[in-house]
Amino acid sequence: MSSLLFQNATIVTPDKILRRGFVLIERGRIRAVGTGVAKVHPRRGAVQTIDASDGLLVPGYTDLQVNGAKGEEFSQSPVEKYDGIVRHFVAHGATAMLATVLTDTPDNMLEAIRRVGAYRESGSEYADAVIGIHVEGPFLNPQRRGAHPQHLLRKPDVKEVRRWLRAAPDAIRMVTLAPELEGAQKVIRLLHDAGVVVAASHSLADYRCMAESVKNGLSFVTHVGNTTDWPYRKEQPGGWLGAEPGVVGSFLCMEELSGSVILDGFHFHPAMLGPILRCKGTEKVALITDAAFVAGLPPGMYRKGKEKVTVTPQGYTVGRRRGWLAGSLLTMDRAVRNAVCLAGVSLAEAVTMATVSPTKVLGLAKKGRIAPGYDADVLILDSELNVKMTVRGGRLYRSQVGNAAPQGGAVARASLAARHGRAETDPCVP
Ligand SMILES: [Zn+2]
Repeated sequence: MSSLLFQNATIVTPDKILRRGFVLIERGRIRAVGTGVAKVHPRRGAVQTIDASDGLLVPGYTDLQVNGAKGEEFSQSPVEKYDGIVRHFVAHGATAMLATVLTDTPDNMLEAIRRVGAYRESGSEYADAVIGIHVEGPFLNPQRRGAHPQHLLRKPDVKEVRRWLRAAPDAIRMVTLAPELEGAQKVIRLLHDAGVVVAASHSLADYRCMAESVKNGLSFVTHVGNTTDWPYRKEQPGGWLGAEPGVVGSFLCMEELSGSVILDGFHFHPAMLGPILRCKGTEKVALITDAAFVAGLPPGMYRKGKEKVTVTPQGYTVGRRRGWLAGSLLTMDRAVRNAVCLAGVSLAEAVTMATVSPTKVLGLAKKGRIAPGYDADVLILDSELNVKMTVRGGRLYRSQVGNAAPQGGAVARASLAARHGRAETDPCVP
């Protein structure tokens, strides 16, 4: 593996933007970062120098929730199809991701966990981009089930969780459950003690339940604002309507909690991103795709097992349940672009939400920043934030992908573009 030297790049770090910067990569690690002419020399072997004068250099993105793409899904597809899923997201800037295993029968979930575990050990070119598994379900509240099949939801079960942990040791990094279900607190404690990030979602938990769960190790809210309630009036003993923060209000109040948002313009209104960042701080909000198996496919109707999902021309998905979104079509580059173009946050904040925030959640000490000693996961973006090059573990990939106009409802797009004073010629305004 030869060394790589990027020169003349605009480097986006969480603290500052370096102009005319350089980054030297050796043996899969970032060795040096600075501005001006690189004064460091590779230790040995050839060095490939790349002029990045028209590009932005950012850390590779980490996606905490990928279900699938291109018609395949980690939960249901054979392991031979996994490379195709991962390649799609790597081409769009995700250098690390969690493969999501979704609600299914106990046997099928165990099998899917084993498959992802085996894929990670397979030595396949893309396998090391899957840094772990996110189990979403089956311990979810039927009243907030979203696209998860009702008949497969069940109560939290310590024995089932122990089987998951044995099936793929160290691979399970995150589990999303509804903490209000009977038996959930025991499962939260078990997972937390095993080093797994425990997340609430598909949930009707109230503030009291969320506070108890946080004490037991819950630290995350998955897709904030989807299948989780904003503050509302809740009936109290005696019949009066009390003020209830709900899961989203608890997320905003409780310092211990980080969370994720699906910023495709449909799942989460971009106008709410700024207030959430001001409340939580950028490093506690991660952008995710929650991409469905239909991500990367043109509009149409698709089937996968018992799932039936329609991709609409507007860029959202609907499942069998009328009106319910069924995962997104997002990629991380698009999520970052939407944060800038639809929600009007700064580029540095958008990049932080795709890099520092998710890697912090997982406790990855060597990912998410452009700094000496960190993994050589680096992207070169063009001025419209499309991925031109990806370096993953020191290997260079040139992307052939472009981005269409930012997704999102036309109303959200127009109103936010106007509010943030974007000109019609701004690349953010299609
Ligand atoms: Zn979900």
